[in-house]
Amino acid sequence: MKRLEYHEFSSFLIAMSQKLSTTDHSRDIAGLKYVYPVISRRAGGLSIGINFNTNNACNWRCVYCQVPDLLRGSAPEMDFQLLEQELIFFLNKVLTGDFYQQYEVPEQYRAIKDIAISGNGEPTSLKGFEQAIELIGKIAAEMHVLPKSKFVLITNGSLMHHAQVQAGLKCFNEYGGQVWFKLDSATALGRKKINNSKQSTEKMLDNLKISTELCETSLQTCMLDFLTAKNAEQERQAYIEMLQKNELKVKQVMLYTLARPSLQPEAKQLKKADARMMRLFADRLIQLGYSVSVAV
Ligand code: SF4
Repeated sequence: MKRLEYHEFSSFLIAMSQKLSTTDHSRDIAGLKYVYPVISRRAGGLSIGINFNTNNACNWRCVYCQVPDLLRGSAPEMDFQLLEQELIFFLNKVLTGDFYQQYEVPEQYRAIKDIAISGNGEPTSLKGFEQAIELIGKIAAEMHVLPKSKFVLITNGSLMHHAQVQAGLKCFNEYGGQVWFKLDSATALGRKKINNSKQSTEKMLDNLKISTELCETSLQTCMLDFLTAKNAEQERQAYIEMLQKNELKVKQVMLYTLARPSLQPEAKQLKKADARMMRLFADRLIQLGYSVSVAV
């Protein structure tokens, strides 16, 4: 897509006439490079997404990933000036402009629920991650969006050991940021199969501890009918044992399953996890003292 210059934003958006519903998760619906709106049923309103990975590059390749043409790699260099312009422009459009009318957003969803750093790849791979967090936090606070709305970082957590990521998380915490840390499997084999990640369990736990020490952190766990039934029960048991053995200061465990089709070659082998099994698993985690949410 052609990159829009600041003075072009307004006329471009006004020219668009489209409905934004809870089923539309297109990241270029607003025609901006970094900022995209999502009407989120989960959040109950508008989620303002920020995509650092405009090159569709991630250091993992999860079998359920919905990023089109996913590549292995890091986020490209950030155009900080453009990010600033887009965010100010877009927040103004929502706060004092006609965003909700233009996109025919249903009344009950007309509130900014969160700013979510969630892109087409792993956001903490951005060079200048701390600077980007500071910029987004400052603008959102000055425009009184924070701390009223949530500030969320959706991450696979694999780069938490890097000093620049930790510096970014310290800054994120100052703006009340919450980390959603991806943990789909407690076993190295499970993560290899699901995330195509070679990270050891020890390293994953070290990274999770770093995250919990720097920011409020929740686990997000995608449950799939992908592994064999035997492995699936072993996986659930390993997850429970991991939580039992380690004192993890996680705020919540968020269990979810496939909501939209994967764009990976394994797509046809994946099925949504059984809702009853997910609720039973949630009950086991609740018994350990964790707060758990289930999205089926
Ligand atoms: S970590 Fe996220 S962006 Fe990366 S491959 Fe997995 S689902 Fe896709």
